[in-house]
This record gives sequence, C-alpha cells and structure tokens, in this order.
Amino acid sequence: MQLQSFGAALTVTGSMHLLTVGERRVLIDCGLFQGNDDLEARNREPLPFDVAALDAVILTHAHLDHVGRLPLLVKLGYRGPVHCTEPTAALAETVLLDSARLQVDGYRHDLRRARRQGIPDEQVPPPLYEEEDVHRALALLRPALRFGETTRVAGLRVTPHRAGHILGSAYLLIEGGGTRLIMSGDLGNRESGLQLDFTPPPPADAAVLESTYANRTHRPWAATLAEFRDALRGAVRQGGKILIPSFAIERTQTILHTIKNLMDAGEVPRIPVFLDSPMAARATHEYFEFGDELIPEVRSALQAGEDPFRPGTLHVVPTSAESQRINRYDGPAIILAGNGMMTGGRIQHHLKHHLWKPSTSLISVSYQSPSSLGGRIVTGADHVRVMGEEIAVRAHVYTIGGFSAHADQDDLLAFLATAGTPHVWLVHGEPDVMESFLPVLAARGLKGDLVPDRQPVDLTGPGYPDGRPPGFTAPPPRSGSHGGE
Ligand SMILES: [Zn+2]
Repeated sequence: MQLQSFGAALTVTGSMHLLTVGERRVLIDCGLFQGNDDLEARNREPLPFDVAALDAVILTHAHLDHVGRLPLLVKLGYRGPVHCTEPTAALAETVLLDSARLQVDGYRHDLRRARRQGIPDEQVPPPLYEEEDVHRALALLRPALRFGETTRVAGLRVTPHRAGHILGSAYLLIEGGGTRLIMSGDLGNRESGLQLDFTPPPPADAAVLESTYANRTHRPWAATLAEFRDALRGAVRQGGKILIPSFAIERTQTILHTIKNLMDAGEVPRIPVFLDSPMAARATHEYFEFGDELIPEVRSALQAGEDPFRPGTLHVVPTSAESQRINRYDGPAIILAGNGMMTGGRIQHHLKHHLWKPSTSLISVSYQSPSSLGGRIVTGADHVRVMGEEIAVRAHVYTIGGFSAHADQDDLLAFLATAGTPHVWLVHGEPDVMESFLPVLAARGLKGDLVPDRQPVDLTGPGYPDGRPPGFTAPPPRSGSHGGE
C-alpha cells in the first residue's frame, strides 16, 4: 500500500491522499487549500497523476478542505464514482455551490481591480471552477456508504465508521493487498457539540491519522458552556449587538442549540437571535434530515417534533437587504453570521457597523488564524480594516476556544487505543505539532512518521528513522485553515 499526499501533508489544509494498492488507485478526499496566498496558489498546481485513470474517490466529510477541489478534478477529466455517506453528499452540495459562488465573485472583483490598474483581463486568473462544474461533480456522488457496512471500492474492502467530527463524517477501514489501513479523515472532539462519539476502530496495520490538535487538551465541555453563558450575560448587560461569527456547518448548529438550551433554562434573557447566513440555514436543514445521526438529546427532541436549533426568538435573515436592516434594530440582539474567521461573508458589514461601539460584544467561538481579520481582532488590534474602511475596535471581545470539532491529544490516543499497534502516519497538522506528538506515540510503543508532501511512502514499510521525511527542516509558517477548527 502506497500513499502520496497532495494536500494536508505537513499542513492542515487541502486534504488529498492518493492510495495505490497494486494496480488500483483511489483518492481519499479532494480538498481545497485555504489560508494564505501561498497555500491557495497550490489549488492551481497541476496534479502529477492521471486523473482520468483513477478508479474511485472517497470523501470522508463535507468540509471544504476535504471536498473543495472535487469540481476541479472533474474539470481535469475525472468521470468515476465519488463514494461518501448520505449526509456528506447533502452537505457537499451546499459547500461546493457556495465555494463556486465565492470563486466567481472573487474573480469579478479581481477583474474590476485589474481594469482600474490597466492590467489586461488575461492576466487575471480565472475562477478555479463555476457552478456548472459543481453540478458535474455532484452528479458523480455515490452516497451509499453506511457506517459499519463494508463496500467494495475498486477491489478494496472499505468500511466507513463514525468519526464524530461533523454531520456524516467518517473514517475508513480499507483492506487490500494483505493490509488493514485506517484513514482517519478528521476525528471529532468526544465532548463537544451534536455528534455521537467516534466508533472505536478495529485493529489495523497502519493508520493515517489527522493531528490538528495533537499537542493540546480542550477545555472541558461544561466549562466551555459556562464560559459561553457568562459571555452572553455580560454582553446583554453591555446593551449593544452581540456578534457571533460562525462557520455554517456544525458550529452554527451547535451555537443555536446551546443558545436555545440557555434561553429555555432561563440562564440568559430571551433577546432576538438573527441567523444571518443562508448557507448555515441550508445546512441546518440537513441536520433535521439526518437527525438520527445526532446525540440522543437532539434526536429525541426531533422525534418529539421540536426544533433543537431554533431558540424561540430566532429570525432567519434571507436576503442581504434584510441583513442590512438588522443594523437599524434597537437594543441587544444576537447576530450569528459567517464566516467564522471574519475574512468574508455577511459578518463583515455587521463588524463595520458595530465593532467601533463600546456597547457591542463580539464572541469568537471559532478557530482564528493569526493572519485573518478575526485573528487580529481577538489578539487585541485597536484598529482593523473591514470592507476597505479603517474601523476602531471598541467592542468587548470574548474568545471561547472549547467548541472545537477536532479531536485533542486525549481523543487521538483514545482512538488509537483499540487499533492494536498500527504504524501511525501523521497528516493534517502543523509540522511542529506533529513532531511533538512523535514521542507521545513512542511512549505507547507506536512508530510514528510525518507523511511527506507529494512524495510517495510505503505505508507498510519501516518509515523514517526519526519519523521525519528526508529534507524536513524548520516548520513552515502556520497559517492554513482547516474549516473544522
Ligand atoms: Zn473537517
């Protein structure tokens, strides 16, 4: 079994792993690089393998950094099946259509700017893909993977299991060529949110393991909820708008559910809640549709005909004109809008209108990349540029880190605990985080290696003497964005 990674190798973004077993070639995930310009430039690099000759693609979950290059793959000639779970297929449609819209909007913006600067149109890079490319990609989805059931994919035995990360997320047991391999995809935080915990994996010979938070322990869930409740109470006392920038999938539903519980229990006042994200509203629909996947508390609420994602004071804001009108609403109100790192989306005009007021509160519940607008605000910038305008930061800023949807070190070790003694190949992590995890693995008798970028590795071979690929030196800058925080 050979693995060659064209994303999420020595970085947290752009997951794409080519698995070769004999003559068979299967691509696990097909994600977009997100973060800074250098990383995003990699989305335009040609893929050094024959796309049309791939036997199959398998998607572990619908985050953009795991599915976002699929339309590009189809543009390059891929016509084979794309296997995934049913909720992943449903969410991938929302995610990819939004991505195409952002691509096209970004291109139009760049084009207008280039024309003002006298730069010829041909020098502006075209959108990576457009809506019609997304529809061609969606037509290839085969949403027949079921948790715990083995499917034949290109001659390999593939068994998806619950990963507990976001709705529909799976890790894969892949059997072929005499080897049992675990591909972790992204693994969930066992405490947080709405998803059932990951299923303990069966014994395997090798595990390709995500390592986003392999160096830290999340704050306990109860403490996170108390912190969020206190932030909301403090914010209500401030009297102004309460801005909660949030990613559309999983985080928004978790926050809505938490706010509903707090209001129903009388722990925070019933002030209006505006959900100002059409994408989040669409994604929430899928949480209804696949409610059986969720934790018992949410599942039974759905079975009783209740809406666990709808605080009594919720208003869903459909159009951007109505989004503008929220700013004229007087008195405290919660505004949930995307995106989580504040780098785009409707949250930006709310920031422009409210960030400069001392009565405003901003509650960050998402990972903030240091170079993003959100990163600058939460680390104490006194002025930031929002929509081309310099805005003073006078709002009260709360940062709540415990809502992570990713496994922490304890979760990763618990995951490995039932897998026997697999050779652990680390992906989807910052290099320094992965390096610091190697001795932790060694202490448990596990051989660990960092998966190199673009270089093939024999998953059943001995690995590297010190766990580091040849030529690996100082870690590159930390700035990728993995969407799942
Ligand atoms: Zn993810």
